[in-house]
Amino acid sequence: MPLDRYLSDAAHFPGGHTAGVIVPRSVDEIPAIVRSAPALLIVGAQSSLTGGATPMGELVLSTEKLTRIVDISPTLVRVEAGVTVAALQEHLASRGAWFPPTPTFTGAFAGGIVATNAAGAATFKYGAVRSWVEALTVVLADGSSLAIQRGEQRASGRRLRLGAVDVPVPMYRMPDVVKRSAGYHAEPEMDPIDLFIGSEGTLGAITTVTFRVLTPAPTTALALVPCTSEPRALALVAALRDASIATWRTSDPDGVNVAAIEHMDRRCLEILKEDGVDRKYDVTLPSGDGLALLVQLELTPGTTEAQAFDQIASAQARDARGGLAAFCRVLEQHGGFDETEIALPGNVRRAEQFVAVREAVPAGVNRRVGDAQRDVDARIAKTAADMIVPFDRFAEMMEIYRAGFVARGLDFAVWGHVSDGNVHPNVLPRSYADVERGKEAILAFGREVTRLGGCPLAEHGVGRHPVKQALLRGLYGDAGIDQMRAVKRALDPAWKLAPGVIFPA
Ligand SMILES: Cc1cc2nc3c(=O)[nH]c(=O)nc-3n(C[C@H](O)[C@H](O)[C@H](O)COP(=O)(O)OP(=O)(O)OC[C@H]3O[C@@H](n4cnc5c(N)ncnc54)[C@H](O)[C@@H]3O)c2cc1C
Repeated sequence: MPLDRYLSDAAHFPGGHTAGVIVPRSVDEIPAIVRSAPALLIVGAQSSLTGGATPMGELVLSTEKLTRIVDISPTLVRVEAGVTVAALQEHLASRGAWFPPTPTFTGAFAGGIVATNAAGAATFKYGAVRSWVEALTVVLADGSSLAIQRGEQRASGRRLRLGAVDVPVPMYRMPDVVKRSAGYHAEPEMDPIDLFIGSEGTLGAITTVTFRVLTPAPTTALALVPCTSEPRALALVAALRDASIATWRTSDPDGVNVAAIEHMDRRCLEILKEDGVDRKYDVTLPSGDGLALLVQLELTPGTTEAQAFDQIASAQARDARGGLAAFCRVLEQHGGFDETEIALPGNVRRAEQFVAVREAVPAGVNRRVGDAQRDVDARIAKTAADMIVPFDRFAEMMEIYRAGFVARGLDFAVWGHVSDGNVHPNVLPRSYADVERGKEAILAFGREVTRLGGCPLAEHGVGRHPVKQALLRGLYGDAGIDQMRAVKRALDPAWKLAPGVIFPA
């Protein structure tokens, strides 16, 4: 079997090597594999952006053939670890159901999204993957299998009993934000299932997952909203967030119901224009200091394109009904109605084009980084962060990102999940010195994010990335990392599962 394709992940972490790759065809093979391997890295789609799925000499256990959907009901689905998010959604769609916390990359596997506690754009409404995991089967380092059902067991204070093992629950306090992928989950009386979610393959091999799902799937519309400035855009985001939270509280069928708002800053829009993306998809993007928002709205299930159109047309009438009409009124109040284009339910092609515009941003940035690596200096690499702050500190955080990059003379672009206060500041390096300055800026941002009550590691995890490991140490201190090590030692005394991932071995 050609091993090359298993030697790196989407982070293009250098130096990947392995003695071999095992691709079990059945979950029943996994206990024996784990028991006998001296060192093992379990991988899914290897879309990790942290080097966490890059082997450094360990045997690779690929879950790619574990693709069975074991069981499905209107509220739950049980899948093997290698089922992709896309396959899961397709299967659910055929039954009118939906899995909400979908990461942007839908080729990711069920095991991978649980191992990293991934999160998607719609975290604002639905939370991260963690809150959708109902049960797990995990093979521990000694080869024993553990079936964990949420709610069945709790830690007694700071001690957690798992099979024959006593696990010390870490003492650090996690930041109070909607998404975190920052080492081991820890809270008094915690549910053991939460220890494995987000543990990045260091505590056990996840073989099956039971997810909660939504039935029926919501009917959605997608709005591309050009904004003339960041303050205006953030005022609109704040109004849409507040209105949506009120709608959920009152179950108002005529209220604004936003699941996600994505954000692309001024530099992102320049990149889209340089790459001809606006012409390709015939979208209007603002210039100057403008930026663009992509708003995912949920409408009453079954709303047709014609009904949605009527809601927009009648939005200003006193007796206007429907969430789309309410959304248009908020837009009007913020001066954004005339420029906004809405892909109505049923217009799947236009919605896909809007999504393609958004996805062209990271693709354009990554291509520029790759070009600089090829043409300027082979040491140039993606230099980016994935941080979250409580939304009321978001404007402050954006100012800190901007000032930190400008002070270091860096070209940069920022985009992401603004409805969560989680965006991805990225450097566009022109030299290796830019990469070094970018890393220094990111470490400084981590300190600021922590000071603002946020988390410097929101959704991609920690992996083997030295900057991300430093951010984790900055968040919890050396004492916190030692407490994570104690958990690892209790469950994997020989340190054989994903050694070096999350913290140095
Ligand atoms: C274009 C692009 C867009 C992305 N967008 C998002 C996004 O919106 N949100 C987000 O959260 N992430 C995003 N990511 C990052 C990535 O997709 C997620 O981290 C994803 O959860 C990784 O899944 P995977 O199957 O590829 O896992 P891998 O990359 O193969 O593995 C990731 C980690 O999980 C461990 N692992 C994998 N499977 C198992 C298992 N069965 N048991 C135990 N441990 C396991 C591995 O050891 C590794 O440490 C994006 C990545 C790309 C390339």
